[in-house]
Amino acid sequence: MFEKLLLALLLVASLAGFWWRFGAVLRKIRAAKPDANFSLFPLGPRIRELVWEVMLQAKVIRERPLPGLAHAFVFWGFCAFALVTLNHIAIGFGTPFLPPGGFYFQLAAAFAVLVAISIAGLFVRRFFLRPKWLGEISYQSGVIAMLIFVLMATYLVAFWSGDSKSIWWTHTAALLVFLPLIPHTKHLHLVLSPFSIFLSRGSFAKIPPLANDDDFGLDTGEDLTQIAALQGYSCVECGRCTEHCPANNTGKILDPKQIALGVRGYLNEFGPASEEPLFGKHLSQEAAFQCTTCGACEYQCPVGVEHVPIIVGLRRGAVNTGKWEDTYGTKLFLALERNGNALGFSSTERDKFIAKEQLPIFDGSQEYCLWLGCMGAYDPQGREIIAAFARVMRHLGTTFGVLQKEKCTGDPARRLGNDLVFQQLAESNLETLKQSKAKKIVSICPHCVRTISTDYQEHGQAPPIEHHSEFMARHIDQLPKSQGEDIVYHDPCYLGRYRNVYDEPRTVLSLSGQVIDPPRARERSFCCGAGGGLAFLGEEKGERVSHNRARELAATGAGTVAAACPFCNTMFRDALSAVSSSPPKLLDIAQIVAASLPAQE
Ligand code: SF4
Ligand code: SF4
Repeated sequence: MFEKLLLALLLVASLAGFWWRFGAVLRKIRAAKPDANFSLFPLGPRIRELVWEVMLQAKVIRERPLPGLAHAFVFWGFCAFALVTLNHIAIGFGTPFLPPGGFYFQLAAAFAVLVAISIAGLFVRRFFLRPKWLGEISYQSGVIAMLIFVLMATYLVAFWSGDSKSIWWTHTAALLVFLPLIPHTKHLHLVLSPFSIFLSRGSFAKIPPLANDDDFGLDTGEDLTQIAALQGYSCVECGRCTEHCPANNTGKILDPKQIALGVRGYLNEFGPASEEPLFGKHLSQEAAFQCTTCGACEYQCPVGVEHVPIIVGLRRGAVNTGKWEDTYGTKLFLALERNGNALGFSSTERDKFIAKEQLPIFDGSQEYCLWLGCMGAYDPQGREIIAAFARVMRHLGTTFGVLQKEKCTGDPARRLGNDLVFQQLAESNLETLKQSKAKKIVSICPHCVRTISTDYQEHGQAPPIEHHSEFMARHIDQLPKSQGEDIVYHDPCYLGRYRNVYDEPRTVLSLSGQVIDPPRARERSFCCGAGGGLAFLGEEKGERVSHNRARELAATGAGTVAAACPFCNTMFRDALSAVSSSPPKLLDIAQIVAASLPAQE
């Protein structure tokens, strides 16, 4: 009876210790602002993500195979032990419910071996190998690892040699100490991450709409939403986001892990109803404006933290309330408002280019509306890409035309947080497209494709738009072959991670040579440095992102670097010469295809 009483008291104390912290976290998340336009439906993709990322641990294993597998065994072991653990406590009260010696105990024993080996391996990695991305040594992690090891070891001893009172109590003590430690440490992710993954914003790097006219983005604690709060508390501090961040890798102060932890730190100190500005002790304005919105962090995060909406939300809070002062930013916004393009040219320059290239004007009779974008209309190299792609379309016999008037899609304003300028540009372009009666759009720019296809949904319905790589891949059988030198392909962030288009450009390039990948390719591609409006801001601090990537591309030894985005093209233009004494050629995929066309076309 004494032991049962002691067990009951210890159990209540352990559960109280758990709830003391967990309840406080839960109250903070619930007290945060509800997310505008959030819908749980459709449920299918959410359930798929939950099964794939939580139950199967697919992302954790894919990105860091060995430690990922070790982590997965620990997780699966926890699941296998759920019933055994309840039964263990029930034994203490004299009411076991699992039949002794059943298959279930053997299964748990097999998992106990795997978990014990895995947790020992993870301990060695964290405390002896010490990968830099894990950050400072966490003694909490050491204690948790030791407790998990003790839980598994005591189970195995009891399983093989028969249970004894001392083993039973050692196992119980480890369990009762482990439970309250969960919400007090980063192991809170054990409880929260299934929810943060299930309750994501619904699509990759999605910038949520503002709730109403009084919503200016993330300015103070009152603006932090429930999803942002949940994600902040779910971060497991693994550093995967930081490891892949182009800004952090090139010496900027931006660290995406600190974005998640900054939200958590702010909520811990001030709570969700505070009028204290978000930028300050926990979050840095300078860091927020160093982000290229490449999405590498968000893609890597195993617990569903969506960094891009938080970072863009912080920028919105600063720009929409006039708290961000940057000469280049101001110049960009003025150029967008006055000239309707990010490069600040008069629109007559666009007219001259259209006339010079004899591009047909879209009149509703052609199949495609060819969207020029700022780079295609005003940038010399972007114009060459448009000219090359127009040749390809003519070769294919596809009818197309360009709009008489077209403004910047608003991509840089959107990502830099200027909602007013973005809205003006989006509404103007949507009206132009409506008047034109265009049914299909094709563009050389992944940023234009993303903005028109996704961001415009807040302001109206645009015709379907595709990237020229998708268009050319569909017509692959009608394009000429000409095997040449090796081509290294750079995956643009807004085509790869944002649109999931990886194979189409490679298929197109395979017509003209052997396509090789740089070490960081496809989903792990390293940004060129232009996204998030950064192409138009001032000098980068630390190493230039474009130089870092150009060095990697040049080191492959390929004779040609192929880009599929005019922004990547412009970033690599100087970067390749800066990092290599004999730089490879730099061409867009359309230019490579056009070079194989008969001369008279
Ligand atoms: S979006 Fe890219 S640049 Fe921005 S924090 Fe994430 S990884 Fe870094
Ligand atoms: S935000 Fe995600 S990827 Fe980054 S440290 Fe936290 S859990 Fe890891």
